[in-house]
Amino acid sequence: MNMFDLMAHRARVTPDRPALEDLHSGAVYNYRQLNEQAARFATAALTHWDLAEGDRIAFLGHSRAEFFAMLFGCAKAGLILVPLNWRLAQPELEQLMADCGPRALVFGGEFTDSAFGLKATGHVDTLVDLDGTASACRPYDQDLAATDPDLSPHPERDPDTPWYLLYTSGTTGRPKGVIQTFRMMMANYLNIGLAVDLTGKDTLLNVLPLFHTAGINLYSSAVFIAGGCVLVARSFEPDQAMDVLANRATIFFGVPAVYQAILEHPAFSGERLRNVRSWGCGGAPLALPVARRFVEQGIRVRTGMGMTETGPTVFLLDEADVLTKIGSVGRPQLLTEVRIVGTDGREVARGESGELMIRGPNITPGYWNRPDATREAIRPDGWLHSGDVARCDEDGCYYIVDRWKDMFISGGENVYPAEVERVLVEHPAISEVAVIGVPDGKWGEVGKAFICLRGDTAAPGTDALYSFCRERLAGYKVPKYFQFVDELPRNALGKVTKQILRQD
Ligand code: ATP
Repeated sequence: MNMFDLMAHRARVTPDRPALEDLHSGAVYNYRQLNEQAARFATAALTHWDLAEGDRIAFLGHSRAEFFAMLFGCAKAGLILVPLNWRLAQPELEQLMADCGPRALVFGGEFTDSAFGLKATGHVDTLVDLDGTASACRPYDQDLAATDPDLSPHPERDPDTPWYLLYTSGTTGRPKGVIQTFRMMMANYLNIGLAVDLTGKDTLLNVLPLFHTAGINLYSSAVFIAGGCVLVARSFEPDQAMDVLANRATIFFGVPAVYQAILEHPAFSGERLRNVRSWGCGGAPLALPVARRFVEQGIRVRTGMGMTETGPTVFLLDEADVLTKIGSVGRPQLLTEVRIVGTDGREVARGESGELMIRGPNITPGYWNRPDATREAIRPDGWLHSGDVARCDEDGCYYIVDRWKDMFISGGENVYPAEVERVLVEHPAISEVAVIGVPDGKWGEVGKAFICLRGDTAAPGTDALYSFCRERLAGYKVPKYFQFVDELPRNALGKVTKQILRQD
């Protein structure tokens, strides 16, 4: 058995404990069964599907239990799993396939057309059908059943070998395949598992997509290492999530869009959700009014910050600080070092803003086939440029100010759109808002706010919005334009895709 084969270790230690349940299909696995499925997957891939160590194997499908058998099976076989974002259009999928060159594609029945399209355009040789509904494909279940799990390979390899690739959601440009390793997963476990006190008694409701680091590692992989149980939802469905949170889950991690939906659910009450002992949120800023509404219900949502490149956990707010440090992402976690540097590359004084740099065993070795992008992002001494602006307060708690790339300059002054958004979202008529910089003849750039109204609320006039902002912000930060929209464009993780707003 190799060190890298996490599921084999877990199955040896706690074979009979519940490991995984698929809330859509109803399939349940204990650790022995999950390890056996992973071993069968590894053997089927190397024999029936003709893959060899180091090959990539892509997955296109909604979240489902088999994903984890594939993930841990790839660890056994030395294959590299590439979970694809199923929300992408066909040309975007083709772009990812061309980038990572997988030998096989495993797909869920709902993506049959797309999978065959990828084969027809020469992006993959072997198709593996998870649901057994398509012809001219390898049948996943039958191929796994025809293997002997005891024959699964156990190559020795080092903990920095690529294990899976995650394409960043592309909020800042062309997607890059972020290499994920065993070392990163173990470091994330120490970072998040200790911060949340994960134990084998925990049950996680996972509603986040499995092509994103949050779906895999917040906290699923950490729960597996701890010996707990993961309940995997096909996607976030508010009614199902409320039911599972009320009756089964003990821990939960969501992105702000998920928390917003929980808040709006008619059955939402802190009393009903007492079973959940730990609530985590990250991926994007949690709007302050939302955080406060949870606190009013006795629920302390711990905000954190992480990146695909950092495995992901970097920060998590202590439960004790939730009431006093609203808006903060807390302190850096156990195995992660951070620094805030100015444009001259020197560390800024406490309280000042600068670029957040991150270092530790949770950092990716780089981007797949992109040595240029890797060199640009990670310095030779191991420090990763996060691309985020952050500051640290007198108590050592950190705040994400904004992304460098979203900042714009108006009349020579830096404007961080996130600061303007935090003000506007406090307006009683506004439910969501996104601000971008647009060209302006006089000031160089000025702000433009895209606003979603709360329910049937009447739209406030431009003058009223201007005054609301001006009372709380310097003049140069106040948007010149306010545009009302029905919804904001979002990526699969619920993050606002500002590049789409910029194209308007
Ligand atoms: P791309 O790298 O293509 O731009 P992405 O940045 O959305 O996509 P992720 O790795 O999913 O890729 O996101 C990491 C980024 O998400 C961080 O760098 C930060 O900008 C943002 N982020 C994460 N958590 C928070 C948070 N709690 N508050 C504010 N921003 C956050």
